[in-house]
Amino acid sequence: MENLLKAINETVKREGIDLIGYAEKARFDALAPEVNPFSIFPEGKTVILVGKRICRGSLRGVEEGTNFGDYSLFGKNWLEDEFLSIACYGLVNTLEDHGWEAVPVFPNPSELSPTGISVGDGRPAPNVFPDFDYAAVACGLCEIGINGLPLSEKYGSRQRFHMIITDAELPSTPIMTESVCDGCMECAKSCPLGAISTTEFDEIEICGKVMKVAKIDYEKCKECKNGAVKNRFSAKARPDRVAAICNRTCMVCLEEKKAVSNLFENSFRSQSSWSIGGEKSIENRDEANVLGGEFSKSGNRGNRK
Ligand code: SF4
Ligand code: SF4
Repeated sequence: MENLLKAINETVKREGIDLIGYAEKARFDALAPEVNPFSIFPEGKTVILVGKRICRGSLRGVEEGTNFGDYSLFGKNWLEDEFLSIACYGLVNTLEDHGWEAVPVFPNPSELSPTGISVGDGRPAPNVFPDFDYAAVACGLCEIGINGLPLSEKYGSRQRFHMIITDAELPSTPIMTESVCDGCMECAKSCPLGAISTTEFDEIEICGKVMKVAKIDYEKCKECKNGAVKNRFSAKARPDRVAAICNRTCMVCLEEKKAVSNLFENSFRSQSSWSIGGEKSIENRDEANVLGGEFSKSGNRGNRK
C-alpha cells in the first residue's frame, strides 16, 4: 500500500490535482442506494475525490458583467469535461497499474437519479448518480456553507470534483473540523431575488459533521440573471451558482476574512457589484439565461442559436 500511496502522490503532482480526499465505505452508509457510489461498485472499499480549482480569473468577466461565456468554459464545462477528466483518468490508470480496480465517476446532478429501470431485485435503478456534495464532506475536503455550496479550506466554493471508487483500502482523510463559513449571511443579503432565507435553516449531518444551511428557493435561482447558469444536463436540476452574485459576494467575504488559504495580492471586488432584477422581475426563463449563458460544445452559445 505504501507503493500505491507514493504512486498516487506522484500522479497528483503530475496531473495538477489541487485537492484529493479519501473516504472508507462506511462513511457512505447513510446515503440512499440511488445516490450512493457503492451501488456502482459494491465490492469497492474507498471513494477518492479528485478536485481542481475554479481559477478566480474565470469569474472576472462575470464580476464585471462583461463576459459570461469564458466562466462557462474554463470554470465549468472544460474544467469538468477536459481538465478534470484527464486528471481523474490519470489517477484511475495509476490505481489499475497497481492491480486495483478504479471506477471513474462524472459529477452528474444527483437530484436527477435514477433515470432508468432496475435490472433486478435488490439493485437500484440506473443511473445511480452519487451525491458529490455529500462525498466532498465525507472525503474531508469540504463543509456545506449556509449558501448550500461545498466550501473547502483552500478555495471556498471555487473547485469541482470527479470521483473514483476503488477496491484499494486507503486511509480516510479526517473530516473537516474548522468552519470556513461563519454565518455572516452576506450571500443572502446580496441576492436580489431573496432566494436565500435569513430566517429558515436546515441542519444537515454528514459523517458526524453538523452544518446549518439556509433554505434556498432554487426556482428563483433557475431564473436568476446575476451570473447563475442553468444546469447543462437538465432544466429540472439545480443551476450552477458559483458565478452568481450570492457566491461572488461570499468569495469576497472569505478572502477578506482570510477564511480560505488561496489568497491574492488584490481584492476580487473593487467597486459595488452590479445586479439585475428583484422580486417578480423575471418572466422568461430563456431570457434569464442570456447573461448566465449556456455555452456548450454543441455550439449553442448564450442566447444565440
Ligand atoms: S457569505 Fe457568509 S454566510 Fe454565506 S456562505 Fe459565505 S461565509 Fe457563509
Ligand atoms: S443564484 Fe441568484 S437567485 Fe439564487 S441565491 Fe444566488 S443570486 Fe440569489
